[in-house]
Amino acid sequence: MAKINENFIKIPATYLFSEIAKRVTQHKEENPTAPIIRMGIGDVSLPLPDAAVDAMIKAADEQRDASSFRGYGPEQGYAFLREAIAENDYVSKGIQIDIDEVFVSDGAKSDTGNIGDIFDVSNRVAITDPSYPVYVDTNAMGGRAGEPTASGEWTNLVYLSCNAENNFVPALPTEKVDLVYLCYPNNPTGTTLTKEQLTVWVEYAKANKVILLFDAAYEAFITEDNVPRSIYEIDGAKDVAIEFRSFSKTAGFTGTRCGYTVVPKQLMGYSENGEQVSLNKLWNRRQCTKFNGTSYVVQRAAEATYSLEGKKQVKKLIEFYTENARIIRQGLLKAGYTIFGGVNAPYVWAKAPVGQTSWEYFDYLLKEKNIVTTPGAGFGASGEGYVRFSAFGSREATIEAMQRLEK
Ligand SMILES: *Cc1c(COP(=O)(O)O)cnc(C)c1O
Repeated sequence: MAKINENFIKIPATYLFSEIAKRVTQHKEENPTAPIIRMGIGDVSLPLPDAAVDAMIKAADEQRDASSFRGYGPEQGYAFLREAIAENDYVSKGIQIDIDEVFVSDGAKSDTGNIGDIFDVSNRVAITDPSYPVYVDTNAMGGRAGEPTASGEWTNLVYLSCNAENNFVPALPTEKVDLVYLCYPNNPTGTTLTKEQLTVWVEYAKANKVILLFDAAYEAFITEDNVPRSIYEIDGAKDVAIEFRSFSKTAGFTGTRCGYTVVPKQLMGYSENGEQVSLNKLWNRRQCTKFNGTSYVVQRAAEATYSLEGKKQVKKLIEFYTENARIIRQGLLKAGYTIFGGVNAPYVWAKAPVGQTSWEYFDYLLKEKNIVTTPGAGFGASGEGYVRFSAFGSREATIEAMQRLEK
């Protein structure tokens, strides 16, 4: 008899996006001509940069000829891409990262979800709240979350509330934890930590033998100087942090699939008998066993985003979404809403009018303004009372949505 991993049945069905779809469908049935604008999307809308497409075509063509055909590649990624990443994202910015600290993957969702493989089930995990759902659900699958409670929170997870009262800066845990997920710029709130604020976390991690799991998927959207693009900009972070990055939101690779994870060689975990063990070695072992590398064609596309042309094209994509975010911020402010984020991220986090829940505010925006957002409560208890506006839509729709709100 095949027994299942019981943890899977504890996880509540993700009802957020299906519930949104249900409400939108119902609204459309009742109002067939309603001009609906979707600002709930977490996917990009602009096409891939030409440099990436050209590189894929060239790489695909190489596969016709035995002399340039590629079979299995290195599980960690080809040296050409690992070198481009280390050089462009780190070394040229004054951060020493070696290529064998870079692990190329099919995206940051896989890596942030799989990283739990190298950590014991007994680790106490802290997660900022609200958060990207992958951190919570994968820890639940791995047996580290305990039991779900009626409120949707898990008994063994430590939730670090981020809200208007603390200006979205999570307080250090008051109980002992071992792993902390941090995502900056943040999805869903669009907020960031300054260098000083992130330094507090690095020092705390160092003093308490905590590992920080730093998701920097939105790094490319940072516009302010005092916001670190990498956790390794903070002194000592290589002793305490793993960093996840993705080409998805940066270069439009959501469907093409490529990301990477940096695991510094000096980063250590502890064995049962208290010996230090290299996490870089463990992650390498994990990837070599369970992952067979990102497609060569896609790795060439990712490499091309670092060419002179590629960089220019990526910059244009980011500027387009950043301008949308600015338009959203301006529109919501004019309409009298209290908002956060949207300066260094493609998301604006809006506070529901006093007395309204996330879903009530969502329903108001849908029914009265024909605008679809994402209710904050879907990202965790601390998201209650907020909705997320995404800047990934078209310019036209973004402007139109804000005009509707200002009315
Ligand atoms: C979109 C996103 C990712 C990236 O996922 P990919 O698998 O690389 O497409 C990672 N973390 C967060 C918080 C995200 O929003």
